[in-house]
Amino acid sequence: MKKWVCTCCDYLYNPEQGDTNHEVEPGTPFNELPDEWLCPECSAKKNKFKVYVERAMWDDAIPEYGGY
Ligand SMILES: [Zn+2]
Repeated sequence: MKKWVCTCCDYLYNPEQGDTNHEVEPGTPFNELPDEWLCPECSAKKNKFKVYVERAMWDDAIPEYGGY
């Protein structure tokens, strides 16, 4: 299962752990979380999350815009 990361605070949602503080059972995929689920760290909505990719891939995916 994919991990999802909050773009507001970098909280990482791990489906294998769920979010037991908010009655989300371990093993719950991100897309099965209730729509009203909020980031435990900063209360961002689900649409602020994106699929987590490893750090090395981040660096490749984000171009440098400093040259303009
Ligand atoms: Zn957050």
